[in-house]
Amino acid sequence: MNPNTGGNSADASEKTLWSELLPYEFKKRLAKCPVVYVPLGLCEPHGQVSAFGLDTIKAEWLCQQTARIVGGIVAPSLGYHIHESGYHARWLEETVGEENPHMTSVPPAVLLYFFLYQLRAFVNAGFKMVVVITGHSGGNQEDLRRLANLFMTYIPIRVWVKSDPELVEGIYMGDHAGKYELSQLMYIRPDLVDMNARILEEVPLSGGRLALGSDADEASPEWGKQIMDACLSQLCTVVSQIDEETVSKALPKISYSMIETIWSEFIQSSATWVTANPWQKQQEVSPNSQWKPYEHYKA
Ligand SMILES: [Zn+2]
Repeated sequence: MNPNTGGNSADASEKTLWSELLPYEFKKRLAKCPVVYVPLGLCEPHGQVSAFGLDTIKAEWLCQQTARIVGGIVAPSLGYHIHESGYHARWLEETVGEENPHMTSVPPAVLLYFFLYQLRAFVNAGFKMVVVITGHSGGNQEDLRRLANLFMTYIPIRVWVKSDPELVEGIYMGDHAGKYELSQLMYIRPDLVDMNARILEEVPLSGGRLALGSDADEASPEWGKQIMDACLSQLCTVVSQIDEETVSKALPKISYSMIETIWSEFIQSSATWVTANPWQKQQEVSPNSQWKPYEHYKA
């Protein structure tokens, strides 16, 4: 089985990645379906047993599969994301402690500012709908949505942001490196999961448990297939419902200065971003924790 296509019936040889398309191929796909997909994730520990890029890899899989089935083009992935700040800090204290998590995290304002320029690039390249799938979730996707909503008040493009657990809300429960996530990776990239590596949890300097979910041992590729198929089906439904008005809308080219205007408005609310603060009833980060400096964030 080609690990990049899973077991789905979509044509595995069909190119969907922007980076791999020739100009005439790009124009053809764009004319057929002016949707761009953005896979978002980061490298962060998912226990000793799984690859760091789980979040990015599942988002890439969903975007590529959907583009093959419904059409559209998959933008280069973004493998850097918001972690550490606000509510993440206490969570990291509890699940990672003083170990080095070897993460590709960036501050909220860095990610969000870059996201805004990504949206500019998509509009200017000719897309009429942006579908953002983030494999990293738990609250941070809300800030992306807020910014996308503000962007849409300036530019009448459709920007749709979801995490993969939100695609299957009420059916499957998302988690971190537990039965849900490990099953997903076992299905799409079985070569990147090694359950035997759990023995390293007890080995000094290995990093310990590294945020492994409590039900990780229940993960299976069969469960992962069910989850990924359900996510994929929901995503295909949403994208295939793109309406004629969205497709035919003429959008203006966006300059740097317009993005700076939107950003200067958005950054004023940085103290209320979801990723800027702990959850209301969340326990405080311990004074000596390596995560203490990130508990309260302001851009
Ligand atoms: Zn994850």
